[in-house]
Amino acid sequence: MFNLSRYFSTVSFILIVLAAGVLGPLYQKLSLQQMQDLAEGRNLAMAQVVQNSLRDSIEALMSDSVGRDADYLRQSEKARRLQARVLELMQDTDITRVKIYNRLGSTIFSTDSSQIGESRLDNPGFRSAISGALISSLTHRNSIDGHEGSRAEVDVLASYIPIRGHDQSVEGVFELYQNVTPFVAQLQRNMWLVTGGVALVFAALYLMQFLVVRRAQGILEDQEGRIAAARDTLEIQVAARTDELKRTNTQLEGEIVERRQAQSKLNYLAYHDPLTGLSNRRSFIERLDESLRESARRGERLAVLFIDLDQFKQVNDSLGHGVGDELLISVAARLSEHVRLIDMLARLGGDEFICLMEGVRAEGDVETLAGEIIAAFETPFVLGDHELFLSASVGISLSPGDGDSVVDLMRNADTAMYRAKALGRGNFHFYTPEMTRDAQERIRMENLLRRALDNGELSVHLQPQVETSSGRLVGAEALVRWNSPELGLVMPTRFIPLAEDSGLIVGLGNWVLRETCRQFMQWRDSGFDLPQVSVNLSVKQLERPEFIDVLSRILDDTGMDATSLKLELTESVVMAVADSFTLLERLRDLGISLALDDFGTGYSSLSYLKMLPVQQLKIDKSFIDGIGKNSGDEAIIRTVMELARSLDFEVVAEGVETIAQSEFLAGLGCEQLQGHLHGKAVPAPEFRARWSPQP
Ligand code: C2E
Ligand code: MG
Ligand code: MG
Repeated sequence: MFNLSRYFSTVSFILIVLAAGVLGPLYQKLSLQQMQDLAEGRNLAMAQVVQNSLRDSIEALMSDSVGRDADYLRQSEKARRLQARVLELMQDTDITRVKIYNRLGSTIFSTDSSQIGESRLDNPGFRSAISGALISSLTHRNSIDGHEGSRAEVDVLASYIPIRGHDQSVEGVFELYQNVTPFVAQLQRNMWLVTGGVALVFAALYLMQFLVVRRAQGILEDQEGRIAAARDTLEIQVAARTDELKRTNTQLEGEIVERRQAQSKLNYLAYHDPLTGLSNRRSFIERLDESLRESARRGERLAVLFIDLDQFKQVNDSLGHGVGDELLISVAARLSEHVRLIDMLARLGGDEFICLMEGVRAEGDVETLAGEIIAAFETPFVLGDHELFLSASVGISLSPGDGDSVVDLMRNADTAMYRAKALGRGNFHFYTPEMTRDAQERIRMENLLRRALDNGELSVHLQPQVETSSGRLVGAEALVRWNSPELGLVMPTRFIPLAEDSGLIVGLGNWVLRETCRQFMQWRDSGFDLPQVSVNLSVKQLERPEFIDVLSRILDDTGMDATSLKLELTESVVMAVADSFTLLERLRDLGISLALDDFGTGYSSLSYLKMLPVQQLKIDKSFIDGIGKNSGDEAIIRTVMELARSLDFEVVAEGVETIAQSEFLAGLGCEQLQGHLHGKAVPAPEFRARWSPQP
């Protein structure tokens, strides 16, 4: 750090030394010059005095000196007198020696007589003076002999002065020695005084200024300290601000990241099915739209595969939505394994999936994929304790051909899927224009069915149920028929699903129930006593909270004995209806019998079955068809028989068409048979005609 005091001290010291060192000697030099001038003047004056007062003697000596030796000059009368006179003049002066040289440089006179006769021709002082110039020189002598004796350590000013004659010509030279020792000593003292004084004054000046400078230094240091402190504070503030900015920055970055994440989550949700993680309907539609344009440009074909699970509704209804959701996730995962990466799989909602296949070269490519999709369901889905057997139906539409727009292709694939479903489980079907006509037909049929009830186009046919061992009539199943003026005779397999989908089934089912009871009572009243009559129930009827009341009113209105009525429910119906146990218990309490229709095709577990207040199991026709052909079907029938026996159920075999089937069933102990072997479903009069006891 810059130290002002130290700097000032150093500079001042140098200046003081310089000032003292320069001023002292300068002063000495000037004083010496002055003193020398003064002394020279005095020497000159003395020489003048000597010359004026002793002119004649000097001139005589000079003229007499020529050719004389030194001794003569020392001993002659004239010389001694001159010496006495000169010494007299020198009395009380500082002149210590006077010498006279003739023009030839010989010392013709000296107050120190030993020097007389010496030649000074080469002396610079003499030479200068002989040429007319006065010259002086100051010298220090260790000792000098004067007329008053010898002296030690003296300063002497020697002046060479020309001696001029009357014509002003230089005739000789005076040399005068003047003792200036006291002056020189005084001068020396003065010089020391001046030097000391200067040094002292400067020192005093320095001291005063030093105080000021030190104070200034203090102020500077103080300021510097404050500046340093301020700088430190500033640095801390800057650091804190930087930190804060960084924090704000990270916070901002965090917020941006969060916003981006939220945005991408929104984007994700907008295009994905949250349950399975597959693309959703919107995503599929956008992709298909893009694909259609791209394929048209490249002249390529593409296929849309509409996939619908065959028994999902039953699973969902019976095992709950939790299991249903898990099943959908598993199905999505399994389907994904079979769909190529370049193709797109999406979930449209519920149990409907859809797949886009691009770059189709031949229908065979699509068939392969559809086959793989169906095969994906061959192994059961294991969810917790449940092992679920599922299948899928696939409808396929191709572009170009089956449509050029997203809407057409999706609708046509959907239509084709319905056809595949109609073929039975686990099938795929390509779309054909005829299907659209069918679909339109469905709509027309639905509209016609709406009117059918009021128009009296419906009727109830009856199919006999006989005792296996005797062939005796034990009951009849009521099966609805629709004789439409526009469509002709329509079988229930065609219009019951339609009625269920449109909700018409409730009114229709209740009508069949009332009509059957009415017919049964009318027969009884007229003497034809049918042991029992069965009526099929739809899940939609059972779901109605007022169902028991409606049923009770029908029984009341027709006077029907509840014990003569049997209600047929499929396993899925029983499982789908909430609180079906209580409901069935209430039906049981009324005295109504219950039969499980299409048994073997559902999922009833043993424990579940055991608790059901059901008396009869109706083995599905599909198993009966397998008798003599399919050992698996036969095994199932055997198992059902054993199960029924152990749980104390009565068994009816449906769709028995041959004696072989009848004998096989009889062999297993199946109590009742129903099928074409014993009679088709026929109108009531025909039934009565066939089965009323002959009188
Ligand atoms: P389902 O209750 O299993 O009725 C048995 C079906 O098998 C009847 O068909 C019957 O005609 C047929 N069938 C019986 N024996 C044989 C046979 O030996 N060979 C062949 N090929 N078929 C046989 P249908 O009458 O067409 O009824 C079909 C289904 O429609 C019924 O199956 C039942 O689920 C439903 N259904 C019929 N009437 C009603 C009704 O009034 N209400 C409700 N909810 N469903 C009904
Ligand atoms: Mg039935
Ligand atoms: Mg059946």
